[in-house]
Amino acid sequence: MLQYVIYADLNCPFCYAMQEQLHAMDLLEQVDWRLIEHAPDISVFNATPESQAELASEVFTVRSRAPQVQVALPPLRSDSRFAILCVIAAREIDEVKALDLLTNLYRALWIEGKDISSTAVIYDCIVEAGLPGELSIEESHELCLQNWQQQWERGSYNLRIPVLTTDNDERTLLGLPSQEHISAFFGGEQPPGPVGSFDQCHGRDQQTIAFYGHDGVQSIWNVIASVREDYNILLPASIQELRGMLNKPGETPDLILLNSINHWQQMLADTTEIVHQASENHTPVALVGDMLSDADEIKVYETGAADYLVKDRANGILKARIRTLLLLKRSHDLLERAARIDGLTQIYNRREFERSLEVEWLRGQRSKQPLSLIMLDVDHFKDYNDHYGHLTGDGCLQHVATAITESVKRAQDMVCRFGGEEFVVLLPETDQHGAEVLAEKIRKTVEDLAIAHAKSSAAECVTISLGIASLNPAENSSPRDLIQIADEALYKAKNNGRNCVAS
Ligand code: GH3
Ligand code: MG
Ligand code: MG
Repeated sequence: MLQYVIYADLNCPFCYAMQEQLHAMDLLEQVDWRLIEHAPDISVFNATPESQAELASEVFTVRSRAPQVQVALPPLRSDSRFAILCVIAAREIDEVKALDLLTNLYRALWIEGKDISSTAVIYDCIVEAGLPGELSIEESHELCLQNWQQQWERGSYNLRIPVLTTDNDERTLLGLPSQEHISAFFGGEQPPGPVGSFDQCHGRDQQTIAFYGHDGVQSIWNVIASVREDYNILLPASIQELRGMLNKPGETPDLILLNSINHWQQMLADTTEIVHQASENHTPVALVGDMLSDADEIKVYETGAADYLVKDRANGILKARIRTLLLLKRSHDLLERAARIDGLTQIYNRREFERSLEVEWLRGQRSKQPLSLIMLDVDHFKDYNDHYGHLTGDGCLQHVATAITESVKRAQDMVCRFGGEEFVVLLPETDQHGAEVLAEKIRKTVEDLAIAHAKSSAAECVTISLGIASLNPAENSSPRDLIQIADEALYKAKNNGRNCVAS
C-alpha cells in the first residue's frame, strides 16, 4: 500500500506538470496515481473558442510555474476516459509499466499535441511502455474509475486538481506545487500556506449558484463570500430575471439560493414556483435565512425546496451543505449525459435517436415537410476486428463517427450510433433527393479517410453502405416505417456490392 495518493486527470496541464516534476525527482513510484475525469463532458465536438482560450491560459501558467517542464499547447483537450481505463487495466499487468504508460500518454498530449482519445494514439503509448497491445477493458476497471472519481468528488478539494495527499488524508497539497514544496511534503512536512494556494485546474468545471434576495443580498453576503472562490456566482436583480435564467437552455444555474427577511409569505409562494420551474433541469433550490421554528422550516420543505441553510452557521458548514447540493446536481447532469451520448463515439445514442425521431415526426406532421433518414453500416467490420483487433476496431468506429459528423452541416440534422457498427442520420425537412446527396457525401468522406482494410471485398479501405428513407409524416405512416424502409434500403446497398447508397 503506497503512502501517497494523487488525484489527477490526463487532460490537465497542471497534472501533467506534476507528473513530470515527480518523474524528475524520482518520486513517481511512491504515489498511488488515481486518474479521474475532471470534466467528463469534454469531447472534440465541443471545443469552443472559450475552452481553447482557457487551455492556452492554463498552459501559459504551467510554463511560468514550472519552467523546467516542457509543455506545448495542444490543438485540443481530448476526452481522457478511455485512456484512463487503459492505465487502470495496465496496473493489473505491471505497475511500473503502467506508470510508463501514464508518462507516455501525458507526453503524447502535452508535448506532441496528439489526441489521446484516439485509440491509435493510446495503442502506440501502450506498446511503447512494453505492455501487450491488446489490453482488455473490463467492468472492474470502469468500477475502479468510478470509485476514484467518487473519492475525489467527495473529498474536500472543491473539484480541483491535481491533489497530492497522504493515504490517511492528513496532509494535502492542492494544485501544482513547486519542487521545494513537493520535497517538503515527501519529507513529512505540511508546507506553509493554506491548502489550495497553488495554481490548479478549476475553470471549466465550476458550477454556478444564483443568489436572490427579496430584500437584496446584503444580509446573506457572508454566505456568498464563503463560496464565491469556488463557484460562479449570479446575482439576478429581480425574480423575473431569475426566472429568465431558468428558461435559457445550457445557461441555467446549478443551484438557486433564495433569501427573504420581510416578505416571508411571498417568498414561500415564489419558491414553490421557482422549484417547479427549476425541476426541469434538476436544479436544487434552497433557502437561506435566520434560524426558524420547526413549523416554519417544514413550510419551507413543503415548497419543494431541497434545504434550509441558517446563514449564521460556520462557513465550513454552509460550504459543506452547498457542496452536497451541487454534487447531487452534478450527478444528475452526468447521468443525463451518459443516457444520451454514446461513450465510444461521443455522438448521440440510440435512445436519444428514438426520442428525436418521435419529436421530428410530430413536427413534420405540423409543418407538412418530409423527414428523411440515412442508415449506414460499416462493410465487413467483423473481418476488420478479426484482423486488426478490437481496440483498432473501436478507433475505426470513432473515425467513422467523426467523418459522418463533419459531413453534416445543418444544426437540426442529427447523427447517432444506432448500435454496433451502424449509424443513423436523421434529416428533418429534407426530401429524398437531399438525403441522397448527403448520403453520397458521407460515403465519400469515409472512403477518403483511407483506413486500410485488408480483408474487405468491397475496397482496400474501410467503407460503408447506406440506405435512405424519406417520408411525409403528415401522411398515413409511422416513425417505425421510416426505420424499416431505411433498413431495407441498406440491405439493398449491401447486396449491390457495398460501398454504395441505395433507396
Ligand atoms: P457487412 O459488410 O455485411 O455489414 O458485414 P459485417 O462484418 O460488418 O457485419 P456483422 O454484423 O457480421 O459484424 C458486425 C461486427 O461489428 C461484429 C462486431 O464484433 C463488430 N462490432 C460491433 N460493435 C463494436 C464495437 O463497439 N467495437 C468494435 N471494435 N467492434 C464492434
Ligand atoms: Mg451491422
Ligand atoms: Mg457491417
